[in-house]
Amino acid sequence: MRALLPRASRLGRPRCAPPALCHFQSQSPRHLSCTVPRRTENTDEGRKWSTPLAKQLADAITITGPIPLASYMRMCLTGDIGGYYTGLIEEGRDQFGLKGDFVTSPEISQIFGELVGIWFVTEWLSQGKPKKGVELIELGPGRGTLMDDVLRTIQNFKDFAQSIETIYMVEASATLREAQKTLLCGPDAPMTKSETGYHSISKYGNIPIVWAESVRSVPDKPDNMPLIVAHEFFDALPIHAFQSVEVAPRPNPAPTGSPASTPESSPSRPSATDDKNSGPTFEWREFVVSPTPPDATHASLNIPKSEQQDPIPDFQLTLSAAPTNHSRYLPESSPRYRALKRTPDSIIEICPDATMYAADIAARIGGTPDRPRTRPAGAALILDYGTADTIPVNSLRGIRRHRRVNPLSAPGLVDISVDVDFTAIAESATKVSEGVEVHGPVEQAMFLNQMGIRERAEMLTRAPGVSEQRASEIGRSWQRLVDRGPGGMGKVYKAIAILPENDGKRRPVGFGGNI
Ligand code: SAH
Repeated sequence: MRALLPRASRLGRPRCAPPALCHFQSQSPRHLSCTVPRRTENTDEGRKWSTPLAKQLADAITITGPIPLASYMRMCLTGDIGGYYTGLIEEGRDQFGLKGDFVTSPEISQIFGELVGIWFVTEWLSQGKPKKGVELIELGPGRGTLMDDVLRTIQNFKDFAQSIETIYMVEASATLREAQKTLLCGPDAPMTKSETGYHSISKYGNIPIVWAESVRSVPDKPDNMPLIVAHEFFDALPIHAFQSVEVAPRPNPAPTGSPASTPESSPSRPSATDDKNSGPTFEWREFVVSPTPPDATHASLNIPKSEQQDPIPDFQLTLSAAPTNHSRYLPESSPRYRALKRTPDSIIEICPDATMYAADIAARIGGTPDRPRTRPAGAALILDYGTADTIPVNSLRGIRRHRRVNPLSAPGLVDISVDVDFTAIAESATKVSEGVEVHGPVEQAMFLNQMGIRERAEMLTRAPGVSEQRASEIGRSWQRLVDRGPGGMGKVYKAIAILPENDGKRRPVGFGGNI
């Protein structure tokens, strides 16, 4: 969903779509699993692909067989050749705003970034106001609007602003990195390159800014206080999707001691959980991507009416006919997934990159045996759309020019995203570091209301020289962010905070606490 409301020049549709059901949902996956060839027949000669990336993916699938959804998403979003964020952008095209595909909260209202800035200040105040060593880290900064609003706001808190040593921007796209540099440092500011990434100097307070392609390249200093924000970053990380299917019992395993009796050597052997039970046997199967058959129709692909005017998508999602490497291991990685294995047709989405990012954030704040800290310090605020306590299901969605489209169409030109599994993030953070605790997720409406969005909007509206039209724009945009109704962003979007472990004694502001 991406909405149509302005902030001065910030117009467009919010990115979160109404709960999206991907087209494979209404099809019988069992039926599909029978129809999917392990390898694509070479029937696509002369076929017209919608983008060069589509052809490249189809060629690769001809050789390797259908690919995991995560591989497809990664290539489409951040692949070198024509990725949505990393590819060359068509002339005049932009991902964000009216002319682009979607708009996000910081693009809708400046108050969003201002309140994130205030949240950082409150954490700094609550954690002893260090005079130096504070780092701001943003994951997936888009056009840089959020960081711009943060930096402008914290100029009003001189001691905090002066404590900031470096700002790190984790950004995969060279084009967006350039846009962020122009906004935060000015169009003429020089940019230099080092082993860590690209460097420039912020126009606010001359703070050094470093761009890195991955959080792993951001230096981890055990004395520093990292203040981290990720807005609509986790929804762009690739997921694997699985379904539990009942399978015919397999012949008894070979006697103990024989190599054939070990799970490793018998990949499709049911897991120990199944063996304990004399009932039916279940296996996880993975949703994989393959080209749509040349004779596919909108009806045969179960494409919803609203998308039937669009060309047939290049690709389709089907269930693998046998277990895959990922289906054997990922669904066994948490009791939340294991609990669903014996419920036939359960679908789960798992995002290993989100687990990795959450673990990295937790290590930076709380330390781990491998990455010890002087003492836990810092805070992370993750804002996104997703599920509070359930595992996301069929959440893959495609958006192009403010419209819902098939996520497997026009690869590289369609923005694809998924629901964020906030519980998985919390689990990963607390598992990796004993030095952190997690607050939330809370609905965006609660977070922004507690942070004072209404009061800030009233201040902006009453400022001298604000026209009636501008005042009503300000009103509409902030209300959109906290609206809990179907078109609003207050309920679907959520916030989670990762903080130094404190026995849950201090709640952060926006999550029920105060300074
Ligand atoms: N936070 C911004 C932009 C959200 S769009 C806003 O709210 O407006 C997602 C952002 O994450 C883009 O900047 C995109 O280039 C970046 N991104 C997506 N996947 C990434 C990855 N794997 N590594 C680094 N950056 C990524």
